[in-house]
Amino acid sequence: MTEKLDNIKNAALASVAEASTTAQLAAIRVKYLGKSGEISLIMRDMANVPKEERPALGKLVNEAKGEVETALESKFAALEEEEKSARLKAEAIDITLPVTPANGGLHPLTLVRRQLIDIFAGMGFSVAEGPEIESDLYNFQLLNIPKDHPSRDMQDTFYVNDNFVLRTQTSAMQARIMTKTQPPIRVVIPGKVYRSDDDASHSPIFNQFEGLAVDEHITMGDLQGCLTTFAKKIFSEDTKIRLRPSYFPFTEPSVEVDVTCSMCHGKGCRVCKGTGWVEILGAGIVNPAVLEMCGIDSKKYSGFAFGFGIDRIAMIKYGIPNIKLLYENDMRFLAQFN
Ligand SMILES: [Zn+2]
Repeated sequence: MTEKLDNIKNAALASVAEASTTAQLAAIRVKYLGKSGEISLIMRDMANVPKEERPALGKLVNEAKGEVETALESKFAALEEEEKSARLKAEAIDITLPVTPANGGLHPLTLVRRQLIDIFAGMGFSVAEGPEIESDLYNFQLLNIPKDHPSRDMQDTFYVNDNFVLRTQTSAMQARIMTKTQPPIRVVIPGKVYRSDDDASHSPIFNQFEGLAVDEHITMGDLQGCLTTFAKKIFSEDTKIRLRPSYFPFTEPSVEVDVTCSMCHGKGCRVCKGTGWVEILGAGIVNPAVLEMCGIDSKKYSGFAFGFGIDRIAMIKYGIPNIKLLYENDMRFLAQFN
């Protein structure tokens, strides 16, 4: 019996020494120490052993059990450590791998808007912003565009309801400012506007930039000087402007303003259709009726106003052929401005 126990113990210790995984060790534990394991079975055979030999044999069995148990435990700890480091090695992420960082950049419309604000701030203008859902009162009526006025047809308006529209022009803010502030006023208003219009040069949503100056003795000469400075700074120092008579309900007289083409510098090219000039904005002397409606004394004060599309300035400045490119968020296009 003692010999049998020795053999089993030695076999168990040998297989523990040979085991190379924790799973194998678990199987060895079951085989020798489990309920029906070989060492446990010897305990059961104890009944066949003479009574006086039982305590000594029992002690030997327990010692053998303890020896195998200790061997299993230390081997288990060693294998577990090995398996863990093998797993860490396999799952390791090489954080030293060089990557090309993808830096963000500003959208061309943001670049142009910021540059515009800088230019006009340099001429003493402050910046105002207003609501994109605007009342009929500010968007139309106070700008001399009463209900049924034919020029409402010029602006294909998105109506929210009978009294509110998605603002068709940042000029709506002119009325808001003039009804709340007395001159001198010098303000520019950048912002989104909406028209139901959709083709290569029109988008249903676009960015306008509005300017308003109201003070004593403001004339068309002030408007011309202000816009000349703006054109030279946003395009190039050799840029010239010209004014052509036009019509807007809220200015009188009204003008369309052209600049010399920044692509050909006035010589004539495809962009300016050979004329050397590109139309960029509408402007004029604030209609005295508008001043009066907004509570400003039109005998004492006069003013000029202008408005243009930031999109249009960006298109001319960067030679962008289609306004849609500014709104599609195509990274191949946008990355060129970083
Ligand atoms: Zn040209």
